[in-house]
Amino acid sequence: MGTAATLTLHERTRQAAVSAEGWRFALVLGGGGVKGLAHVGVLKALEERGWVPDLIVGNSIGALIGAAWAVEFSTAELESVACSMTRHDLFVVARREMAAHRLRAPGLYKAEPLDMLLRGFLGEATFDQLPRRLVVASVDINCGMVTYWGLPGLRRVPVADAVFASCALPGFFAPREIDGRFLVDGALADNLPVALAAGQGVDGLVAVDVGSSGALRAEVQESGFAAVFARASEIVFHQMLEYRLATWAGPAMLLVQPRVEHVPMLSFTHNRELIDEGYRATIAALDGAGDAVRRAGGGIHPRRLVEVAVDRTRCVGCGACVVLAPPGTFRMDQSGKAVGPSEPQEWSPISGDFIRHCPTYAITAHPARAARGPTGGGSRGTAPAPA
Ligand code: SF4
Repeated sequence: MGTAATLTLHERTRQAAVSAEGWRFALVLGGGGVKGLAHVGVLKALEERGWVPDLIVGNSIGALIGAAWAVEFSTAELESVACSMTRHDLFVVARREMAAHRLRAPGLYKAEPLDMLLRGFLGEATFDQLPRRLVVASVDINCGMVTYWGLPGLRRVPVADAVFASCALPGFFAPREIDGRFLVDGALADNLPVALAAGQGVDGLVAVDVGSSGALRAEVQESGFAAVFARASEIVFHQMLEYRLATWAGPAMLLVQPRVEHVPMLSFTHNRELIDEGYRATIAALDGAGDAVRRAGGGIHPRRLVEVAVDRTRCVGCGACVVLAPPGTFRMDQSGKAVGPSEPQEWSPISGDFIRHCPTYAITAHPARAARGPTGGGSRGTAPAPA
């Protein structure tokens, strides 16, 4: 693809990359293993609603789906490929290397299947040659530096290598060498690169988190070290993201959190469900936020009113909720039980994570009756609250 032709196409894409109301946004697709197939449903929903991203910033599976978007795969093509993928298309145990090198083997899985998949649709294209803007996160395994491939000065490398590096969860896949550095999954430092995306000349963000560890999960402790390590990684990534979003001071963000927590990172038995859930969650977020996210100067959306309650028969008085929730949400009464807020609370999608840290499941949250969210309006505050 020639440079002039690429620039022309790039400019045309930029012209088109404006949502119906002229709100330019970056789509941020996070990592989460196979759960990231939900991103396909997200793209489908955004397309249906006329929300066209200016660029995609992705990590891990988010980088892979973003790369397919960047070379102009249609959502129908993406959906077809995603539905047909099996574990053996990506994860083939590197038995020979494991036998020969044991603990010095470069990775649990062979690189070839993922390489073949990436080379199949990206070839040797560099970021300069993509018809749509893409940025991919990875981390230097030796020095810990985060590298965002696709930014100025970091565009003349094969996209396939950058995406491979971004997918290379340490221990699962060998680090990928690019320009003399050895790179792995960007999730080690930035699983959902919202801050980087906010600096790309856009009005706001649509961010999709598929790395949540919030749900109770079928027990993994006897599922083998790969499953235990994957679950441990999810918990770490979730905690890092929670902190980052809690202090979010960037432009308005529509945060989409498909309910995919129950699906293991490496399971290919829920492909259709994951895509459908990505679609559902995106439509729900768009409906919940309405135009508020495009009018807002900042904040995380959609917002809603929620009633928070404590079951006193369950509360053991540990006080964790007082410490973990925003100041003033809970207090301890004279009998040593927690007391919740008397008024409905305005929540964003990241609010309420403290609920899952109550050791006796004494805290519940429900949409406020006759909820009238300040940014959602009408019945838009009726989405189920985390519980
Ligand atoms: S975290 Fe749960 S058990 Fe502990 S004080 Fe709060 S409501 Fe009670």
